[in-house]
Amino acid sequence: MRVLVVGAGIVGAALADRLTRPAAGGPALPAHEVTVVEGEEPGAGTSGTSYAWINANDPSDPSYHRFRTAAMSAWRDLAAGFGDPDWYRPPGNVTWATTDDAKERLADRVARLTALGYAADLIGPGQVGELEPHIRVPGDALIVHYPDEGHVHGGPAARALAGRARESGAALVTGHRAMRLTTDGDRVTGVRLDDGRDLDADLTICAAGWRSPKLLATAGVTLPLVDPSEPGSAAPCLVAITSASQTVVNGLVHAPGLSVRQSEAGGLNLEADDLDAGVDESASPELIRAVGGELHARARALIPHLNAEVAEVRRCVRPLPVDGYPLIGFQAPGLYTVVTHSGITLAPHLAALVAQEIDGGPSPLLAPYRPDRADPLPRP
Ligand SMILES: Cc1cc2nc3c(=O)[nH]c(=O)nc-3n(C[C@H](O)[C@H](O)[C@H](O)COP(=O)(O)OP(=O)(O)OC[C@H]3O[C@@H](n4cnc5c(N)ncnc54)[C@H](O)[C@@H]3O)c2cc1C
Repeated sequence: MRVLVVGAGIVGAALADRLTRPAAGGPALPAHEVTVVEGEEPGAGTSGTSYAWINANDPSDPSYHRFRTAAMSAWRDLAAGFGDPDWYRPPGNVTWATTDDAKERLADRVARLTALGYAADLIGPGQVGELEPHIRVPGDALIVHYPDEGHVHGGPAARALAGRARESGAALVTGHRAMRLTTDGDRVTGVRLDDGRDLDADLTICAAGWRSPKLLATAGVTLPLVDPSEPGSAAPCLVAITSASQTVVNGLVHAPGLSVRQSEAGGLNLEADDLDAGVDESASPELIRAVGGELHARARALIPHLNAEVAEVRRCVRPLPVDGYPLIGFQAPGLYTVVTHSGITLAPHLAALVAQEIDGGPSPLLAPYRPDRADPLPRP
């Protein structure tokens, strides 16, 4: 089967990698002739700017929680297959609460996660000092360590997966955008590129992240994603990257008001949801600079000896399904869509399930996440 994957973010790259590699116990040769079309380069989209925390930290929907713990396990296997590469960092996540309300919510979360069998340990300031010697945690905080969580560097991870797919026989067409889906009756037959070339396929997989609705619309197909151009949209956001810092963090740190982890160039990646409130496609350079300044101020409060400046503030867009859950499945004959928030956490697991589904029929694990589900699932 000729399979065309549009998009080489973490989702498309993991899928291309999976489709070109024989499943354990399967035939020695890849079953598919895979082509990947990427408008820029692998990992250049949301995946390259993502906070990229691999987790199943929300206990509110046990079924989705299980889906995500399976995804964490898929990452461990995938990283082992690459010889535990630098872009995969599993050293855990530290978080804490200081107000009474926040402490109650955190304690409740830990109890529910523990009941689900998820590792969530209450720790004291001394243990934080060992895990993260550079950060300052208030003495009266309730502190939790999630030892099985981690993150990836999304750009290098997507490039490694796309590179391995190419080594396994996939063709990569980079620097060319798919302008529209091509059709024959109601069947999608491939894409037309920006240079006028048609790429034909038996199956076209849309893994174009937040830009997917625009491509799908060219064949009259819709996808319930939050529109980043709507005023007040939750999809656009800002991430600050600092210059290289000696005051590194080892794992992920979720402090009240600031999320921090190491960036791929040895600086810090800084993010705060509350600062994204006024950020949309028309956010002014002044607003972007102000958010960068505020993130840096919060980082200095957290890491007293921080010796790095904000080097860059990146504007990015989340591929945000309206109800928060993945959008996975056939949307027309010859057309399959894989778009999700938490795509970093989910990519290797989704890649395996989608490959199975393409070869062997519907997967019950993907059944709750069909793009045409009538009733939105409860928000995770
Ligand atoms: C600030 C931020 C923090 C996040 N934090 C987390 C987190 O902690 N944990 C987590 O799991 N997830 C997180 N996410 C979400 C996660 O990053 C995304 O779900 C994931 O990166 C989506 O990957 P993707 O491959 O679908 O999309 P992308 O990485 O955007 O890849 C899509 C690719 O398709 C290409 N493309 C688009 N249209 C076309 C076209 N027409 N023709 C050719 N190529 C095209 C683009 O160039 C791009 O490279 C976060 C996102 C953001 C923005």
